[in-house]
Amino acid sequence: MLSDADYGGTTSCGRSRGKKRAAAAPAGVETSSSSSSSAVGESHSMRPSRQTPSGRGKRSSSVSTAQANPKRKMADVEEEEEQVEKKFRKCEKAGCPATYPVCFASASERCAKNGYTSRWYHLSCGEHFCNECFDHYYRSHKDGYEKFSSWKKLWTGNGKSEPSLKAFMADQQLPYWVQCTKPDCGKWRQLTKDIQLTASLAATYRCGMKLNNIKNEGPDQCSQPEDMRVAGVGDSWWSSMLILPPLLKDSPANPFLTAYYPDCVGMSPSSSHCDLRPEQRRNIQPQIPGLCPYFQPFYQPNECGKALCVRPDMMELDELYEFPEFSRDPTMYLALRNLILAAWHRDCKEALTPQKCAPHVIVRGLVRVRCVQELDRVLHFMTRKGLINTGALLAKQPLLPEPYRNKKVLVIGAGASGLAAARQLHNFGMQVVVLEARERIGGRVWDDTSLGVTVGRGAQIVNGCVNNPIALMCEQLGVKMHKLGERCDLIQEGGRVTDVAIDKRMDFHFNAILDVVSEWRKDKSQHQDVPLGEKIQEVYKTFLQESDIRFSELEEKVLQFHLSNLEYACASPLEQVSARSWDHNEFFAQFSGDHTLLTAGYSTLLHKLAQGLDIHLNTAVQSVDYSGDVVKVSTTSGTQFTAQKVLVTAPLALLQKNIIQFNPPLPDRKLKAINSLGAGVIEKIALQFPYRFWDSKVQGADYFGHVSPSPEKRGLFSVFYDMRPKGDQCVLMSVITGEAQAMVRDLEDKEVVELCMNVLRELYKEQDVPDPLKYFVTRWSKDTWSQMSYSFVKTGGSGEAYDIIAEDVQGKIYFAGEATNRHFPQTVTGAYLSGVREASKIAAL
Ligand SMILES: Cc1cc2nc3c(=O)[nH]c(=O)nc-3n(C[C@H](O)[C@H](O)[C@H](O)COP(=O)(O)OP(=O)(O)OC[C@H]3O[C@@H](n4cnc5c(N)ncnc54)[C@H](O)[C@@H]3O)c2cc1C
Ligand SMILES: [Zn+2]
Ligand SMILES: [Zn+2]
Ligand SMILES: [Zn+2]
Repeated sequence: MLSDADYGGTTSCGRSRGKKRAAAAPAGVETSSSSSSSAVGESHSMRPSRQTPSGRGKRSSSVSTAQANPKRKMADVEEEEEQVEKKFRKCEKAGCPATYPVCFASASERCAKNGYTSRWYHLSCGEHFCNECFDHYYRSHKDGYEKFSSWKKLWTGNGKSEPSLKAFMADQQLPYWVQCTKPDCGKWRQLTKDIQLTASLAATYRCGMKLNNIKNEGPDQCSQPEDMRVAGVGDSWWSSMLILPPLLKDSPANPFLTAYYPDCVGMSPSSSHCDLRPEQRRNIQPQIPGLCPYFQPFYQPNECGKALCVRPDMMELDELYEFPEFSRDPTMYLALRNLILAAWHRDCKEALTPQKCAPHVIVRGLVRVRCVQELDRVLHFMTRKGLINTGALLAKQPLLPEPYRNKKVLVIGAGASGLAAARQLHNFGMQVVVLEARERIGGRVWDDTSLGVTVGRGAQIVNGCVNNPIALMCEQLGVKMHKLGERCDLIQEGGRVTDVAIDKRMDFHFNAILDVVSEWRKDKSQHQDVPLGEKIQEVYKTFLQESDIRFSELEEKVLQFHLSNLEYACASPLEQVSARSWDHNEFFAQFSGDHTLLTAGYSTLLHKLAQGLDIHLNTAVQSVDYSGDVVKVSTTSGTQFTAQKVLVTAPLALLQKNIIQFNPPLPDRKLKAINSLGAGVIEKIALQFPYRFWDSKVQGADYFGHVSPSPEKRGLFSVFYDMRPKGDQCVLMSVITGEAQAMVRDLEDKEVVELCMNVLRELYKEQDVPDPLKYFVTRWSKDTWSQMSYSFVKTGGSGEAYDIIAEDVQGKIYFAGEATNRHFPQTVTGAYLSGVREASKIAAL
């Protein structure tokens, strides 16, 4: 490819040719120009036909001469071709079929138009400019020079790519193309060069529409044929002949990406204004008015480790896999994907369609046609992956085109994962039936309102809101989250509030112990694994032996508080947890930002997901037979369902106990993985009081800790959550974790409440603590359809087990659920995302 600097044309022979050319125009040029573009501004005569790359060059010249006037004798044609040879010049770019290019620029008085120039500058197969117009901008003594240089200044000020004259032409001089919005037309029309395309013009444009310079000839402008160059744009070779990738103007992604060089993220440096130099803008999360602060879909430069965040300047692996044709130059893909992602985050309450996005694709030249064509595929891919058009969106029209939709799917379980998958598949346009054993949806999301406030018997907290799909759903539904504060006073039995210094000191030592464990595991294989509890004890003992540090009795107890917290996170006594892999997911980017309490409860979100779905309650699946072409699912009441694909979302504990019979049995590898994880249990207790007696010590805080008198009891009510810290409600919720879980398992509710009240009366010894008015105690371990709270990695297990459980079997049986999400296990978020993941797999072609 020649660059602009290779300029070597002469200007002396330009003047006379303009006139001559009009008379000598070959027939092919005339016909295409008059038929295709009279209705739409600038006329154009270049006529590449739709051909394969190999035969392109030759055939097009014969097409444009002989074919236009087939009756002519061959001799005439040959003679004329000779003439043409003298007066015209082909585009010299290898492979370009343009025998008679036309200059789109018409900048110079001496513009070659569709005649001879000493050199054509190729932008695409249908877009060239002449040497005279090149000079007009490039030569310092010519009229256009100033325009070019001020553009150049702007471009180099903002962008990174070369401010070449070709870039200038593409960015400033090419005409815009716009598609007629009339149903059944959709023809592409070229606007005159001076008309600026705006999103609103693109959204309303119709053939023959009166814009200042557009001619409006005849009554039915839509019947005018489309410019023939448009047909070629869809061919794959067309983009290989495109000199400059499209850089969008006024992209909705613009405000998200101010810290990047616009041309590195698919945007034009001439239309992104920012006062800071890119080097100065690093790492600042831009504040976009009206945007939910938890929406940060793009990494800022130098940022990393954020869940569900993409690099705006790079394609992700799954994108490259789906769109390998963009691997060499990803700019067009990035431009479109960034636009789509930004547009979705700016309005996530309604489905984002190609029709909605296309008007925002603002770029000059024929490449706009290509961009709009590609937009469909990119948007459908992102929809299928659940990157957009997701959450609690209820699609009114199928979101994916026909070929994706011809499957019937059964989803077993209406918890967060099953509902997420069913919602996605239903929105895609597929036939989905959900079978749920219980008389309610939600699974381990189960909200209780009997105490006057919503208390989640299962999940209620969101751990890290940035880019969390739960935050997305809250935004979509206008549901508020309560940000949990940092303050958590540790109260001792006897009533003293622990000195913050002691709290901090032990927090430090606790983390130091875990650091040593991390160091230890570095070179350990799976079979060298030991229980986390044992390892921590060992490290702690060694530490005491090797240092002079002695902890006070209170400090030891505070350390136990931290251990109990760890058992809460793992839903298991530390004696069963893997020292090697207890925090395996931390090796992947996790959700950051605020931790919040869903005051309204998770079920508000799940009920929305379930809206309009075909859900059969009280329908427990007993067996899944996938030995034949269709999968047969039988329920305990003897009903049979069939489908092409079945998604199993039963909790890990039930998979471990083979509650569902599979025929043929699940692969050994999967069964091994299922049994290498632990089905953890924690229980909750919630109590409603006549007044807020705890305000005397911890007013305004979201929780307070309880320093247990002995290690054995550390899991009994180690933390109390105030369900309405600033309100007039008087409800506390607490947890039972670790070994303590077994202690209360067979107690009556009343007895558990008594244990809890004993603790509260110890913590508030100085005052009267009233009896609770109402309460509940959960029994997840005995719950037939859960038998657990959330998963953990057992000693000897590994994070990989989550991936193995997630593997589909023969493309017929799929698995979702909290225990299938390696990156985000244990949580509603993880369960939800696993459902989205499987929906995407099921919908894939
Ligand atoms: C006490 C507690 C506190 C928690 N706290 C939090 C928290 O604060 N934040 C957080 O993010 N997560 C928390 N979790 C975890 C979270 O609740 C779960 O990870 C998540 O809800 C699991 O969703 P799931 O779809 O994987 O499984 P489930 O919700 O268990 O859904 C599975 C569904 O399958 C049904 N089912 C089972 N077997 C059959 C069958 N044979 N036929 C038909 N249907 C069947 C079940 O009834 C159930 O509805 C907590 C869990 C508990 C128990
Ligand atoms: Zn020209
Ligand atoms: Zn060319
Ligand atoms: Zn039209």
